[in-house]
This record gives sequence, structure tokens and C-alpha cells, in this order.
Amino acid sequence: MGCMSLLVVGSMAFDSIRSPFGEVERVIGGSATYFSLAASYLAPVRLVSVVGRDFPKKTIEMLSARGIDLQGLKVADGETFHWKGYYEFDLNTAHTVRTDLNVFRDFAPVLPPSFRETPYVFLGNIDPRLQLDILAQVREPKIVALDTMNFWIGKSPQLLREVIRNVDIVIINEAEVRELTGEFNLVKAARKIMGMGPGRVVIKRGEYGVLQLSDGEVFAAPAYPLETIFDPTGAGDSFAGGFMGYLASRGSAPLTEMDYRLATMYGSAIASFTVEAFSTERLEGLTLEEIGSRLDAFRALTEFRTV
Ligand code: AMP
Repeated sequence: MGCMSLLVVGSMAFDSIRSPFGEVERVIGGSATYFSLAASYLAPVRLVSVVGRDFPKKTIEMLSARGIDLQGLKVADGETFHWKGYYEFDLNTAHTVRTDLNVFRDFAPVLPPSFRETPYVFLGNIDPRLQLDILAQVREPKIVALDTMNFWIGKSPQLLREVIRNVDIVIINEAEVRELTGEFNLVKAARKIMGMGPGRVVIKRGEYGVLQLSDGEVFAAPAYPLETIFDPTGAGDSFAGGFMGYLASRGSAPLTEMDYRLATMYGSAIASFTVEAFSTERLEGLTLEEIGSRLDAFRALTEFRTV
């Protein structure tokens, strides 16, 4: 039955971040970076992205050492994508100060032939034009999931809707699903998205956890109540990496509702490590044992009995 491969397209970035706990300049970030690292603990990952010549070789080596297939990573003349943002005491909301697309402006991804047949595909937060480009190049994927953010909802609403129509799962932040649908109520917002095509919507609610909706099913997972949170950046992408990584690890077996629920818990467990340190620091050196104990802690968190 074996693990199946998982393809991700998304940003690789330098992030400059201020939070109530400190400030960092040009640390490694990006949706594809966090996603692929998180997923690499569970399934073989194929990465499609672009960086500039200024991107550290040692990060590329670290990703490769985690078994991530980097044939789809282009090193282009120019500067790496740069995101500058801050968080206030409400760590659930990232405020963007600036977004420098740099090498992403002219990026036209061509999938390496060995990537064309990948059963699991994650269209990470990036220009919907690139998400569509990738979708057009993969052959009959089993599951395609998508993430996006306010920047793209505002900039390319039409293209974004076209991508959404063609995916199976939308994994999105609470604030963004409200913005995208114009609907405050999350159940109604998810239903609107499902009305566009996708069969499942996974809403990331920061420190309040995750709400997963599909036809006839609702699942709510808490976030782990951590005592030390340094930087929420990357939590969403790490969640998606754990979620998709678990699904891909199930091989060719038909996926059940329980698989999707456990995928949600894997995503939540891995994301809970990401926020314990700045950048990808904590995510780089995780072990399966640590992930397993966090899953146990999650189980204990909501266990109760009726007497
Ligand atoms: P999250 O996992 O939701 O916290 O996303 C964090 C990552 O999103 C950061 O590391 C940023 O580099 C990246 N990011 C921010 N803005 C954009 C954008 N407009 N397009 C793609 N990636 C972005």
C-alpha cells in the first residue's frame, strides 16, 4: 500500500517579523518551506518553487537532507521573495507590512517529468496563476488541496475562484474564509466554498484550533495550549503539511472521515512545534516520537467520559 508522494507549490521566503516576544530580520520562511518540512516527517515530498541567488545554500541542503525532492526548485537571477509582517498580542492575525514578490514576478513553473504523476498535490499560498499552472501540469491527481491569503483574495479574486473550483479541499484561515465568501458564520462560509466545488473545507483558527467541514460531517480540533509561543508564522503551512502528509502516508487505501480527522490532528501536532521558535528552527529537528507524544497529549486534552 506504501506511502504516496506529495507535491507542493508555494513561496520560499525571507521573513522579517515582529511579535510581542521579539523581532527577526530576513529569516527563512515561505509557505512551501514550512509545508514541505512538516510533510517530510510523514511522506515523500516534491517541491516546486523559486528562490534568488541570495537564498542560503545551507537551507537548500537541509531540505534535501530531509528527503525533500528539489528537482522543481529553481534558483533564478534576482532576489528571493520577502515578506515583512508583525503580530500584536492577538497572535492569530498576521499584519502584512510589505510583500516583495521579487523572483516570483516572472516565475513560470515547468514540472519535471518525474513530478507529473503525483497523487497528492498542495497548492500552497502563492499567486493563483501559479497554482493554476501547476494544476494544468499534473496528471489525474487523487487529492488536490489549496491554501491562500488576503493578499491574493484582494489581488486576483477571479483566478483564485477558478482554482478553487478545481480542488478537492480548501485549507484556509478563519479571517480569510470570511473575506473570500463575505460570510461571517463559518458553517455558512464553508458551505459557500463547497458550493463552488471542493468537498471539504478546513478552517484554521489559530490558537482556537481547526474546524473541518464536509458534506454531513463537522469535526472540531483544539490547538495545543502551549506555554511558550514565540512566532506563529508558518503554523498554517505546517498544519497543512502534517494534514496532507498524513493523507499521503495512507497509500492507495480509500480515505475515510476518520483518516481526515487524524490528518487534522497530525497537522495540529506538527504546527504546535513550529510556533515554539522563530522561523523553521523547531521544525527542522523534530522526531516521530515527539510528534507521537504530542498526538497523545491532544488525545488527553479533550478526553472525557459520561459516568
Ligand atoms: P502561515 O503559515 O499562514 O503563517 O504563512 C507564513 C508564510 O507565508 C510566511 O513564511 C511568508 O513568507 C508567507 N507569505 C506571506 N505573504 C505571502 C504571499 N502574499 N504569498 C505567498 N506567501 C506569503
